Amino acid sequence: MSHTKIKRIGVFTSGGDAPGMNAAIRAVVRTASFYQKEVFGIMRGYEGMIEGDIVKLGARSVGNIIQRGGTILKTARSQEFRTPEGRKKAYENLQREGIDALVGIGGDGSFTGLHYLTKEFEIPGVCIPGTIDNDLAGTDYTIGYDTATNTAVEALDKIRDTALSHNRLFFIEVMGRNSGYIAINSGIAGGAAAIIIPEENMTFEELMASLTAGEGSSKKSNLVVVAEGSKIGDANELAKRVAERSSYFDIKVTILGHLQRGGAPSYFDRVLASKMGVAAVEGLLNGQTDVMVGIKSNKIVFNSFETIINHIHEIDNESLRIAKILSI
Ligand code: ATP
Repeated sequence: MSHTKIKRIGVFTSGGDAPGMNAAIRAVVRTASFYQKEVFGIMRGYEGMIEGDIVKLGARSVGNIIQRGGTILKTARSQEFRTPEGRKKAYENLQREGIDALVGIGGDGSFTGLHYLTKEFEIPGVCIPGTIDNDLAGTDYTIGYDTATNTAVEALDKIRDTALSHNRLFFIEVMGRNSGYIAINSGIAGGAAAIIIPEENMTFEELMASLTAGEGSSKKSNLVVVAEGSKIGDANELAKRVAERSSYFDIKVTILGHLQRGGAPSYFDRVLASKMGVAAVEGLLNGQTDVMVGIKSNKIVFNSFETIINHIHEIDNESLRIAKILSI
């Protein structure tokens, strides 16, 4: 199929929600309208695609959403879509609506689903990275990461007040099962004494050494940021082990959890989502397919599915180095 013949673009959000997804939906819908293409919103990601839960959208239907967290199209995880039969059902619904191109907003799983759809049915598709974890190769930033990290920093600031007042050691768990981006940058910005991320092999003894060094220098309060995917135990386990070894601190644990997913997107995420939404539609109209939009050194780029899936977005060593210097 010739991509320039695209008439109807379907847009959906999939996987975990992230602040800024609405700004991306708005940008996709308005850009498609700008180029006189019709746009349809597919509800609840691949689940709604399989069930045919599809609504017509226009420039006006995405008014007043740029500042809202979550996603107006809702999101879901679909087991059925992982099967060829499920994807066939989904494609038949797209055909019924005359949808001849797709923009998916989500993480690597969502991109994998879109990759299969584009290959099996030759429907052009472009993915926009929407996930708070910032764990996708091919882009310096994913939509939602900046907002989630700001939320974590705000929480760290508040916890610091109470930690200081009571001479307490806090273990604060932030999101990131496989990726330490939120942890490392909220930890640097929040002045953490130690940051534990899945990518780094810090041992429990090294953690103890850094905490007791603080004890020696009469540091009165400490914040330790722990990414969910910590390899040496989650925040609760670490708190318990440290308490068994030292009675210097009164130890508390705070799990930030899903509050990191909500809230109004930051200016950065709104602008990022707007740029990526425009790029996704223009990319489709220019013949791009099976690619993810990314931003590298402030420039829009497109990367193939293989490039994204076969690489990881590594934490830069410089961030790890400065976090250590500044925590003494
Ligand atoms: P997040 O990073 O926030 O978790 P994600 O997009 O990676 O977002 P997943 O749950 O991994 O979230 O994937 C979203 C959906 O994409 C899945 O529920 C499934 O429907 C589809 N999907 C994921 N992997 C595959 C696959 N290998 N084949 C087909 N579809 C897939």
